[in-house]
Amino acid sequence: MIDQKKIIEPDKVACEVCFKEIPISEATSVKATDYIVYYCGLDCYDRWKKQQPQPESPKRE
Ligand SMILES: [Zn+2]
Repeated sequence: MIDQKKIIEPDKVACEVCFKEIPISEATSVKATDYIVYYCGLDCYDRWKKQQPQPESPKRE
């Protein structure tokens, strides 16, 4: 019998939005202000982006 151990692979990341674990090579990563956030796909990235305040909004002078 094969003893199945849960190995935590260091190259896996959790999606910032749905917390699904994904291989870092398949993850969509975006550099935020001073850290990197990962997503399982553009769908989650889109959702995350909508939740964020928009720092790039044009200022009126
Ligand atoms: Zn996700």
